Amino acid sequence: MTAGTRPRTAPAPRPSVAATEPYDWEASTAEVAARAGLPPDAVIRFDTNTCPWPGATLDDLAAEPLNEYPDPTYARLTAALARHAAVTPTAITVGAGADEILGLLATAYLAPGDPVVVADPTYSMFGVLSAIAGATVSRVPAPDLRLDRRRMLEAAGRARLTWLCNPNNPTGELLPLEFVGALAAATQGVVVVDEAYHEFCQLTAVPLAVARANVVVVRTLSKAFGLAGARVGYAVAGPAITATLTRVRPPGSISGVSAALAVHALERPDEMRARVRALLQLRARLATEIAVLGLPVREGAGNFLLVGCPPGLAPALAARGLVVRTFPAGSPLQGWMRITVRAAAENARLVEALRASGVSDGR
Ligand code: PMP
Repeated sequence: MTAGTRPRTAPAPRPSVAATEPYDWEASTAEVAARAGLPPDAVIRFDTNTCPWPGATLDDLAAEPLNEYPDPTYARLTAALARHAAVTPTAITVGAGADEILGLLATAYLAPGDPVVVADPTYSMFGVLSAIAGATVSRVPAPDLRLDRRRMLEAAGRARLTWLCNPNNPTGELLPLEFVGALAAATQGVVVVDEAYHEFCQLTAVPLAVARANVVVVRTLSKAFGLAGARVGYAVAGPAITATLTRVRPPGSISGVSAALAVHALERPDEMRARVRALLQLRARLATEIAVLGLPVREGAGNFLLVGCPPGLAPALAARGLVVRTFPAGSPLQGWMRITVRAAAENARLVEALRASGVSDGR
């Protein structure tokens, strides 16, 4: 290109992309460690809602032929997911994490100006993906961190797509299936039920997704299956939504290694159940130990707790390499932190740090 034809300004992205408030990425472990002056292995992530134990390791795998593409139908993975979800393989769409599936749903169903409904607070990617698509987002409040169900039903009636996280990240609230069913019946639009934390509470809208043409359940292997690093998620839906997702799904977004790790973990459901049982016991113990220190604790249905967070506490924890999820000023969760339940020794380090900080917000 000659100097005369070189554009003076960078090309603009689509207007909705330019206007999107980006997802608030967590700091990397290396960044947290550098700021605290600690080695990276001294950092403990209480902010990512992952599992302290891996559901599979590379040593578990037979050699993968890495010169070839993975099976584009992901037949073994799909069959293993279908067994776990108790549906037929034709109801499953696989993706690189639940996040990719959520993105596929936005791509497939949202056009600029489409009305979309989300709870506030909920998983922030719902809002980000809707904004990128140019949809018009209505936020339904959750006074006292409990969803205003009447308003959600009302708003869903006018929506092209309704995002629901059950149990909800970050409040931990678990809505009954009757409500999810009422939501599906109240709208002609798509109802996305994000069940990333399903294994910790067992309740599921999968039967609803199979029975109703407008419901899709989204799940992940990043939580109870301990494979966040492998990036495997899936959707469960009826034939129409599944066909639509298949149209927009890229052919090879899950690596062959990740698919094999996922199959290994899925074929060992007892190990997953043992992890879940252990984490539920650890959640109860951590909630009690924190409450004793005088901080308010809300124990929800996921692998995390919401804990009152007086000013200065999160930085004091970060200085010890303990990262919690905090929320910005103006968020309904300002003054709270979300804490992932981790292994016993890691939780003990957190409780010790809370005790040493001597804080109680006196609520
Ligand atoms: N949905 C919810 C509610 C989540 O909390 C998360 C992870 N934080 C995701 C989806 C993304 O999961 P994945 O790792 O499978 O992309």
